[in-house]
Amino acid sequence: MSEPVGGLFEYAPAPEPRSLVSIRPSYGLFVGGEFVDPVEGGSLKTINPASEEVLAEVATAGPADVDRAVRAARRAYEEVWGPMPGRERAKYLFRVARMIQERARELAVLESLDNGKPIRESRDVDVPLAAAHFFYHAGWADKLSYAGLGPDPRPLGVAGQVIPWNFPLLMAAWKLAPALAAGNTCVLKPAETTPLSALLLAEILRDAELPPGVVNVVTGAGDTGASLVAHPGVDKVAFTGSTEVGREIRRTLAGSGKRLTLELGGKAANVVFDDAPLSQAVEGIVNGIFFNQGHVCCAGSRLLVQESVADAVVDRLKRRMETLRIGDPLDKNTDVGAINSSGQLDKIRELSAAGEAEGAERWAPACRLPERGFWFPPTVFTNVSPSQRIAREEIFGPVLSVITFRTAEEAVAKANNTTYGLSAGVWTEKGSRILWMVHHLRAGVVWANTFNRFDPASPFGGYKESGFGREGGRHGLEAYLDA
Ligand code: NAP
Ligand code: MG
Repeated sequence: MSEPVGGLFEYAPAPEPRSLVSIRPSYGLFVGGEFVDPVEGGSLKTINPASEEVLAEVATAGPADVDRAVRAARRAYEEVWGPMPGRERAKYLFRVARMIQERARELAVLESLDNGKPIRESRDVDVPLAAAHFFYHAGWADKLSYAGLGPDPRPLGVAGQVIPWNFPLLMAAWKLAPALAAGNTCVLKPAETTPLSALLLAEILRDAELPPGVVNVVTGAGDTGASLVAHPGVDKVAFTGSTEVGREIRRTLAGSGKRLTLELGGKAANVVFDDAPLSQAVEGIVNGIFFNQGHVCCAGSRLLVQESVADAVVDRLKRRMETLRIGDPLDKNTDVGAINSSGQLDKIRELSAAGEAEGAERWAPACRLPERGFWFPPTVFTNVSPSQRIAREEIFGPVLSVITFRTAEEAVAKANNTTYGLSAGVWTEKGSRILWMVHHLRAGVVWANTFNRFDPASPFGGYKESGFGREGGRHGLEAYLDA
C-alpha cells in the first residue's frame, strides 16, 4: 500500500492465505493438559491490529485460575517431569521443535494476524527461531552436568513466566525451552493483545503428549501476570517487558526467596564509523529500527554516525526508507506492518510530537497508510541532542534518532549515556576498533557489522535498567538450575 516513489515498481499483492489457520471463536485456559473455562475470570477480545477485526475471545485467568495452574505445574513437577531423566525430557523437546516446523506456515499467519508483524518476519524469523530454541535446549536436557554449573545441577521447581506482545511465540519459546530442558514445569502468561500463538503452541504441546501440567498457559491482562508472580507456589519468575513492570515485580518478590530474571527495555546505539561499508550499514540501520515496526527491546533506536559521513548516511537512509513497503502484514512484499495496539500507537505519536517540540527535525517518506488499523510511518529525526526525550526514552516504534560524533571516545560516551544497556551495534572495517568498542560499550549484546541477529546458543540480556540474567546459551540454563 506504499506509494510508488521515484519510479519504483508497483508490486502485485502477494498475500499469504488467511485460511491457513483456523481460529476458534473462543479459547479457554490451558491447565493440566486441557483447555478449561476459567472458574472466576472473564474474557477479553484479541484483535488484528491491521484491521481492528476481532479475531477471538480469550479467557482471562483470575487468582483462583492462576492457583489451579500453579498446582497443576507443581504436581507435574513432583510426579513426572522433575524425576524424569534428561534424555527422556529431550525427546519431548525435539518433538515440539519438529511440530513447530511442521505447523510453521500456520503459526506464522496466526502471529502476523494477532500481532501485526509482516509475514516475511514471522515466517523467516519468529517461527524458525522458536523451533531452534526447542532444538537447542533439547540438546542440553541430558548434558546439564556439563554446563559448568556443578556435577548435578537441580531444577528449581515451578517457573512463572510473563511475556510481552512483540515476539509472542518466540518469547514463549525463549521461556519454556530452557525451563523444560532443566526439568522445571511452567505457567506462562502471554500478553493481553497477542495470546493466540501461545494457545496454538499449547495445542502443539498437547499433541506432542507432553505430560499434563508440565506447561500451563494462563491468558489475561496485567493482573493475571501480577497474581502469577506473587503466587507462593512459584519458585522462579522470568519476566520480559517494560522496566516499570519489572521494578514492580522485583518489589513483589523481595524477600520471597524466589529466583528472578528480568529482560526489560533498551535504547540501543547503532554506531557507524566513517570507514564502514555504507550501503551495508544503511541496511543494518533499517533492519535495526524498522524490523518488527521497531517493537524490539534491542532495536537500534539511536543512530550514532561519525560527523564526516553523517550527511551521506542520512541521505542514503532516506532514499532506502522511501522503498519500504508499509501495509497488509499478510502480504509477502510488506516490510513494515501494523503497530500492535492503539495504546502503543498513542505512545509513539506522543514521543514523536515531543521530538518535534524539542527542536529535532522529523522526516518520513511519503506513504499512504491504510484507513483502518494502527499505523505509523517509518520516521527519522535529525538534529537530535542527547538530552531530548526521543534520545533518552524507549519509543518502541519505527522511529530513529540520529546523533553525530567525532571520535570513538565520544561515540562510547554518547552510546553509554542511557539508563539502559541491552544492545549496541558497531559498523567499521577495522577489527581492532570493533574489539575496543565492544570492550567499552556497556551493553549485553554488541553486534559488529550486523544488527538484530539472534541465536539460541548466544546469551541475551542487559545491564542497568535493561534488567539482569541471561536467556539463551549455557548462561540461560543457569537461570533455571540450582547449582
Ligand atoms: P509490559 O506492560 O511490561 O507487559 C509485559 C507483560 O507483563 C505482559 O504480559 C503484561 O500483561 C504483563 N504485566 C503487566 N503488568 C503486570 C504486573 N503488574 N505484574 C505482572 N505482569 C504484568 O510491557 P509491554 O508494553 O507489553 O512490552 C513492551 C516492553 O517490553 C518494552 O519496554 C520492551 O523493551 C520490553 N521488552 C523487552 C524484551 C527483552 O528481552 N529485554 C523483549 C521484549 C520486550 P498485558 O499484556 O496485559 O499488559
Ligand atoms: Mg491481537
